[in-house]
Amino acid sequence: MKDHLSLFIMVDACGWEIVKDHSFLQQVAPHRRKLESVFGYSSTCVPSILSGRWPDEHRNWCYFIYDPANSPFRSLRWLRWLPTAVTGRRIFRRWLTKFVKVQLKFRGYFDLYNIPFKYIHLFDFTEKKSPLKPKGMNRGPNIFDLLEEKQIPYFVTDPSQPEEEHLRRLLAEIESERIDFAFQYWAGLDGLLHMVGNDSPEIPLKLDHYDRWITQVMTAAKQHYREVTLHVFSDHGMANCDRHLDLRVKIDALGLAMGKDYAVVYDSTMARFWFLKPGVKERVISVLNTVPEGRIMPDDELRHYRAYFDDHAFGELIWLAQEGVLIVPSHMGERPIRAMHGYHPTDPQSYATLFSSQPDVPDDVTHIPHIYRLMERAVEDHASRRAGSPQPSAPTP
Ligand SMILES: [Zn+2]
Repeated sequence: MKDHLSLFIMVDACGWEIVKDHSFLQQVAPHRRKLESVFGYSSTCVPSILSGRWPDEHRNWCYFIYDPANSPFRSLRWLRWLPTAVTGRRIFRRWLTKFVKVQLKFRGYFDLYNIPFKYIHLFDFTEKKSPLKPKGMNRGPNIFDLLEEKQIPYFVTDPSQPEEEHLRRLLAEIESERIDFAFQYWAGLDGLLHMVGNDSPEIPLKLDHYDRWITQVMTAAKQHYREVTLHVFSDHGMANCDRHLDLRVKIDALGLAMGKDYAVVYDSTMARFWFLKPGVKERVISVLNTVPEGRIMPDDELRHYRAYFDDHAFGELIWLAQEGVLIVPSHMGERPIRAMHGYHPTDPQSYATLFSSQPDVPDDVTHIPHIYRLMERAVEDHASRRAGSPQPSAPTP
C-alpha cells in the first residue's frame, strides 16, 4: 500500500454545456465548475494546461504558419503534380502524414490536414516536439519537466495508442504501485463530437462510458493508495456547425497571388493572413468587412486573451468566425464536419470543465491554464513527502 496518488484526467472537448445537465462523475468527483478556455484549438489549450502559461508565453498556438525560409515541406512540392483525386483523399493524406512525421522527426501531434501541396513549401509546422513530454514546449517548461526535476514517478498517456490501451496501462501502473502522479489524456469524445454534434444521443452514452472507466481507475487506486485525489477536466467545449462559409472563394476573387501578395491559413474557425506587398492588407480587410459570419479580432482583444504575438508569427491579421460557422473548404478539411471548437472563448459552447474529488479547489482556478497550479501543488506535495520533510503542523508554544 502506497501513500498518495494524484490523478489528472483530461477528457478532450468535455465542455460545460455538454455536461452541465448530466450526472457525469457525481460519485467520484462531485465538485464541478465551469472554466474559461484559451483562444485557439487543442494545439494551444493542451499546452496551456500542461504549462500553466498562455499562448503569448509558450508560443504553442496554431499549427501552420507562413515561414517559407524555414519550411520543412519543400520536398513535398512535387506532389502538386498528382491529381487532387489522389492527393485530396483522406486516406492518402493520412498515409503521407505518417511518412512525413517520421521523415521530419516530428515528436508531437502532426497532420498535413488539407494544406494544398502547391503552397505547402510556404508553411512551417509549430508543434515539432510533444507537449506531453519533458522539454516538449516551444518555450518554457511544462509539468513533465517539473516531475522529472523532482524525480516523481509518473504516468502519461501515449497518444499513439488506442483509448482502451490508455486505461489498461494506467491500471497496470496503479496495481504495480510504481507511480505517484498520472496525466491521462482521452481524445475520443472530441472525435465523436466532431462527427455527430453535441446534441446526439451518443454523447451521454460516451460520458457514461468514461464515468465507468474513471470509477474503475478510482476503485483500483483506493486498493493500492491510502489517499487518492482526482481531477478531471477538459480543454474546451464543442459547438454544432449549422452554417458553412466558403471564405476562400471571397478572398480568391481579389485576384491576389498566394505567396507573392499575401499568405493565408484557413483554419476551421479562423483565417490568419500575412501581407507581402503594400496595399494588400487594405484590400483583404475590405472583403472581410463584408462577411457577416465573423469579424477581425482587434489587437487589444487578442492581447486580452493572451494570443497576441509581437512578431506576428501566427498571422498579421486574425479573422474569427461566429460560433456555429464552419469555414469550409479550409486548410483543415475539404468537407464539412458536424461540430467544431476554436471559437471565441466567451461563446457559450467554448467553456471547459473541472471536476474534482476535493471540495477545496481554490476559487481563483477559473481558466484552463490554472489547472497547472493543481498539478504543480500535487508534485510539490509528493516531493516534500519523498524528502521526508515534516508536514506543516500547529506552532508549538
Ligand atoms: Zn477537436
